[in-house]
Amino acid sequence: MNIILLGPPGAGKGTQAKKIAEYCLIPHISTGDILRENINNNTNLGLKAKSYMSKGELVPDELLITIIKDRLSKKDCSGGFLLDGYPRTIPQADALQMILTESNKKLDVVLNIDVDDEELINRLSGRRMCSCGASYHLIFNPPAKDEICDRCGGKLYQRDDDKAEAIKNRLVVYKKQTQPLIEYYKKKGILQEIDGGKDIQAIFENIKKVLEKYD
Ligand code: ADP
Ligand code: ADP
Ligand code: ZN
Repeated sequence: MNIILLGPPGAGKGTQAKKIAEYCLIPHISTGDILRENINNNTNLGLKAKSYMSKGELVPDELLITIIKDRLSKKDCSGGFLLDGYPRTIPQADALQMILTESNKKLDVVLNIDVDDEELINRLSGRRMCSCGASYHLIFNPPAKDEICDRCGGKLYQRDDDKAEAIKNRLVVYKKQTQPLIEYYKKKGILQEIDGGKDIQAIFENIKKVLEKYD
């Protein structure tokens, strides 16, 4: 199955994506993770992306389109994929359409996770990450030991863009540049709304119910 997870920053895309990928046995493709990995490895791409990301701005479309084209051409995507954080603009969505058409693929469903702004700010400001890819929340999804990753024992950190100034900007950027994608995919008839205001497991149960219809 070919799935997109849409939703504002902090909606729980990454959290749900890990569960869906495991459940559907498809790769979880997070453009945010790919960009952060490039920053950590000091690649050319990482250098270009860094200043945009720390301010909460979007990285230019051309860079993202190249990343996604390359990633979707990998063998592990042949049986389906789950996109988390891409597309974020209409040009990115148009480019995705072309990439898929060229390889005789199509999108099955776009899951739009909806959460109100106040809750988004709570979720983003309490988010803590581990370099192994795990993510936590100080209150809503805490690790067993304070500031230590359950999975690998690593020390948790806060993303630069999860600090107050960048959070505010990311929500503005989302509304302007990404929110129009809801209408875009609604028109294509593949949008499914998910209430993201519930707890993590309840949301996942709802997603599973929606996905069952596509089997
Ligand atoms: P996104 O990938 O959409 O930015 P994340 O999955 O990283 O969002 O979630 C943002 C933060 O909110 C994380 O700290 C995560 O642990 C927490 N979180 C995720 N889903 C929920 C939920 N349903 N209720 C409360 N907190 C959540
Ligand atoms: P979140 O869902 O919590 O906002 P992500 O990890 O998906 O965060 O993305 C972090 C940052 O990486 C974004 O704020 C943006 O700067 C950059 N980024 C990720 N995906 C894209 C994309 N598809 N287009 C442009 N920028 C992106
Ligand atoms: Zn870890």
